[in-house]
This record gives sequence, C-alpha cells and structure tokens, in this order.
Amino acid sequence: MGVRRVGVLPGCPGHRWIDGRRMLQPKPVRVGVGRPPPGGGAGLARPLRSHHLTHSHAWILPMSQADDALHRFRLERAGVRGGLVRLESAWSELLGQADYPPSIARLLGETLAASALLSGLIKFEGSLSIQLRSGGVPRLLFAECSDDGGLRGIVRWEGEVPATAIDIRQPSAQLAITIENSRTATRYQGLVAVETSGLAGALEGYFAQSEQLPTRIVLAQHGGRCAGMILQPLAGEGGSTALGDADAWDRVGHLLATLGTDELLHLPVETLLFRLFHEEQVRLEPGRPLRFACSCSTERVSAMLRALGRVECEAALDADGAMGITCEFCNRQYRLDRVDLGLVFADSVAPAPARPQ
Ligand SMILES: [Zn+2]
Repeated sequence: MGVRRVGVLPGCPGHRWIDGRRMLQPKPVRVGVGRPPPGGGAGLARPLRSHHLTHSHAWILPMSQADDALHRFRLERAGVRGGLVRLESAWSELLGQADYPPSIARLLGETLAASALLSGLIKFEGSLSIQLRSGGVPRLLFAECSDDGGLRGIVRWEGEVPATAIDIRQPSAQLAITIENSRTATRYQGLVAVETSGLAGALEGYFAQSEQLPTRIVLAQHGGRCAGMILQPLAGEGGSTALGDADAWDRVGHLLATLGTDELLHLPVETLLFRLFHEEQVRLEPGRPLRFACSCSTERVSAMLRALGRVECEAALDADGAMGITCEFCNRQYRLDRVDLGLVFADSVAPAPARPQ
C-alpha cells in the first residue's frame, strides 16, 4: 500500500483577586475556580473548601491538566489585560508525533504557546493559527488553537538546523495569523513581514502594524514545558490614558522584562502574577484547559483529495488499487481504494467515504 504524508491543514463569572494577604498562605494543591473544565468533571474534579478563594466552588485539577491551561487576567490599576499559558502534557503529546531537533522543538513550543495566548484575546468559533513561511529554516512553522482548547502544530524544514536558537529573519519570511470561523465558514488572515529574530518580537510587530496595538509578549520552551505571557492595553477603555496613569504601559512592560525564563515556566500562576504585578491590582479569571487535539477528519481528507484532482489521486493508487494518507499532525492514518475515490469525486454531496484505519 502506498503511503503519502499529507498535512491536512484547516481550512465565570468567577474571578479571583490576588493581593498580598491571600498570597501569604502557600497552597497545597493547584486550584481553579468556577465550573470544572470540560472532561474534568465527575471523578476528576471535586469541590474544595479554601479561604483563599472568593467563590464557594473551587476545583482540584488533575496534575496533568493543571499545567495545560490559559490563565487570563487584568491589571486593573494599569488598565492592561493579559494572558499566561502553560503547556506540559499537551506539549509532550505533540512532541511524540515527530522527531524534532532541540532548536526546532523550541520554536514550535513557543509558537504553540503563542497560539493559545492569542486565542484568549478574541471570541471565536473555530480555530486560530500562527503560520510562518520562509525560504530558510523553518520552511513552514504552524501552530493552531481551537475554541475548545485543542492544540496542534508542525514544523517543516530543509537543510542544516542551527544548534542554537533559530533566527526567523529568513529570506522572504512572512508571518500569518489566521482565524477560521467554523460556524460561518469564513476566514480572516493578517500578514506581516518578519523583522525580528524571535517569534515574540515578530508577533509584537504584527499587532503594532496590523492592529496599531502595543503588545508585549514573552515565550519560552525548555525541559518538557512551554509557557508564554502577553500584555495589551484594555481595548475600548483607553488603557492607561483613560485612567490618568500615563506611564502605566511602560511600567508593566518594565515589570515584565524582569520575568526570568524559569519563573515563566515553573512558578505557580498566582505566585508569578503576584511577584510581578502585586501593585497593579491583578484580577485572575478561571483557567481555560488546553490539550493536544487534531482536527483532521475524513471530510477534510476528502476535501484535500478533491483539491488535488482525480487524475493525481488515481496516479497515487498502488498495485492493490489503494492509497494511504497519514496526518502529519497526529499520525492518524486514512485508507482509500478506487471505490472510495469514486465517491470522493462523485457529483453528489454525500458524506466523504475516507475511513481511518
Ligand atoms: Zn490529525
């Protein structure tokens, strides 16, 4: 059976206030507030009594989920919103799909964390992706976060890979942010040329150019974990200017610059935010669970085959009259024969017949 590797690209109300008094007490468990996370209900989460929290229901998260979450927050005094993402299990599972050199893995981990951070800035139904294409290394870098917290990503490259951090200012390097609305089947895409060596700087440049929005982003990947933080002035409320605090944006930027990589990767979320912003009145929202998940499907495989065309598809059939397709994101395998292909290219709108093996 012939096998082709084809990337199936897509088309609480509760809040906690962090103050010095509450943070004096060390927490014995990692906790979230509000509704239990999807999939973390019966048997995985149970109510917790804690005097640290302002709500009657808190939830003990399984450790495997506790470090895979997006934590959104506001710095009320500065008029700034932010997000902090941590990935561990999701990152480990993604890394298990391919054999990446360390510098490639670092870039992919940072991009994955960034896609989760950006997904927390807007409301959408579908997926948000970050894509970098260039004539060097990497040729393609792609990370995607869906509205239900599913993450996936991939890197393609040719030639020698630097042992140290990869400079993404490669020939013809272009960064794209794409939002696909699954409900309306529409797509928004913003493009920007890459002018900085690192992804965080490139994304800051994207927001400055396409949104005229000052943004600070820090990203990290090391030792089986990815993490990132983003800060933006509160849109529509005038940010620091409206609050009569003209230097607030510079102030929180300087505070963020003091954040070490180990702190970003490992410090408990509340401890980290308190250390950085304890004078800025931090309001922390319930964490949003994240996980590795691929959105490939028989329908998407069929759509991809129709885009390739019948002649090319039939040429790919092996001696047994069959073809195999492997999703590069999750290694799921799909197998089709001549009859399946006939249905894919039939004029009817019958459901696609490609079936997973
Ligand atoms: Zn897949």
